[in-house]
Amino acid sequence: MVSYNPKSLKAEEFINDQEILDTLRYARENKDNLALVNQIIDKTDELKGLSHREAAVLLLCEDKAALERIFAQATKIKDAFYGNRIVMFAPLYLSNYCVNGCTYCPYHLKNKHIPRKKLTQEEIRREVIALQDMGHKRLALETGEDPLHNPIEYVLESIRTIYSIQHKNGAIRRVNVNIAATTVENYRKLKEAGIGTYILFQETYNKEQYELLHPTGPKHDYAYHTEAMDRAMEGGIDDVGCGVLFGLNLYQYDFVGLLMHAEHLEAVHGVGPHTISVPRLRNADDIDASSFTNGISDELFQKIVAILRITVPYTGLIVSTRESQKTREMVIRYGVSQISGASKTSVGGYAEPEAEEEDSSQFEVNDNRTLDEVVGWLLKMGYTPSFCTACYREGRTGDRFMSLVKKGQIRNCCLPNALMTLKEFAEDYASPETKRLALEMIEKEAATIPNEKVRDIVYQHLHDMDGGMRDFRF
Ligand code: SAM
Repeated sequence: MVSYNPKSLKAEEFINDQEILDTLRYARENKDNLALVNQIIDKTDELKGLSHREAAVLLLCEDKAALERIFAQATKIKDAFYGNRIVMFAPLYLSNYCVNGCTYCPYHLKNKHIPRKKLTQEEIRREVIALQDMGHKRLALETGEDPLHNPIEYVLESIRTIYSIQHKNGAIRRVNVNIAATTVENYRKLKEAGIGTYILFQETYNKEQYELLHPTGPKHDYAYHTEAMDRAMEGGIDDVGCGVLFGLNLYQYDFVGLLMHAEHLEAVHGVGPHTISVPRLRNADDIDASSFTNGISDELFQKIVAILRITVPYTGLIVSTRESQKTREMVIRYGVSQISGASKTSVGGYAEPEAEEEDSSQFEVNDNRTLDEVVGWLLKMGYTPSFCTACYREGRTGDRFMSLVKKGQIRNCCLPNALMTLKEFAEDYASPETKRLALEMIEKEAATIPNEKVRDIVYQHLHDMDGGMRDFRF
């Protein structure tokens, strides 16, 4: 039998099936033990997070009062670590050519119906200018897996193109990358190209299910996929983003697997995932999400987000436009720190909308608002939308970012950066109403920066921005 070892570099040892099953049994046995449940919730006050076993007990617990405590604690921890900032980004699909057979994704090789597209560098330029004109500063690049159509050189060239485009006051300052599991050498090249986070969703941690869901193509290899983050870190990328696609497999199993993955990265590399994404399966071209029987309700989704928030307090939580405005409102309250806005999941579509018969999108989005509308909505709810990309540009990646968070310096560093980038958005891209709300928020929040010297510098920079200067950061 393969035994559990979080420090192992072998997928089946650090994501150990028996340990997940034992954890779920322990959670079932203890879910009504309210003394234990409350003790676990109390422990989150220390802001050191929880183990996968403790988190699993909370996940299975259905006691109403305990749940209320979990939600309250998640809100409290989110406020303590992240304040009211919400970081904004948009996906950019480069190509939907794919050689894999993923049964839930319309880009699978056997789909002969979906238009296949791959952006040229000139098309990327047009897309990026359109994204810059909305106010975006941070992108997540997406591609299918296809060594002929989308080799690493194409991705690297595209990253260079994106960083090189300066249009009016616009710039993409952070490019995160969500491409298939690859080699250490390729991760090193991505690092050298200046990427922010390397994102890869595990889809499911259950090996058997994983192999059924990925019947053909390179992605079929469970170990190669599961060990990708270790190779990425070996290649020098120290900000990695994990996630599972909820709906594919039993959520309890994947929840525990996700936390074990985070514990493994911390145990081996000294730093856990920079972000965790919580995508839920959506309808798509030839994919009927309702034919997958493991979908989770909105209530459960909120509970998962809240427990993740208190279990891995230092990890950013991402929710995309797969979720509706209403759901996003709930999960932002309970712990989500980063959201996408005005997303297109098609290859192209930002510069010019795709014709209906040419639809190349990966899945249906549930939130179709413009970036200005999303920013205005956040401001009205009392959040500060942030277009900050400072950390990795200042070399604060991996444990250096974590140490900033752990030292409680968010209000002296992240808040100023959020306010200065929000000011850029207000001046350069916002509608008059959003601009008014943004300037009010900036004034209110700037006064709360604890360090007097930092506060004075922020006031000076905000003033300089009125004179046309841009891109200040700490
Ligand atoms: N091709 C890359 C790979 O193999 O990991 C990743 C990029 S893919 C464009 C991004 C993610 O979209 C996938 O990892 C998957 O979780 C998600 N996805 C695929 N089909 C989906 C669907 N029908 N609904 C929602 N999300 C989906």
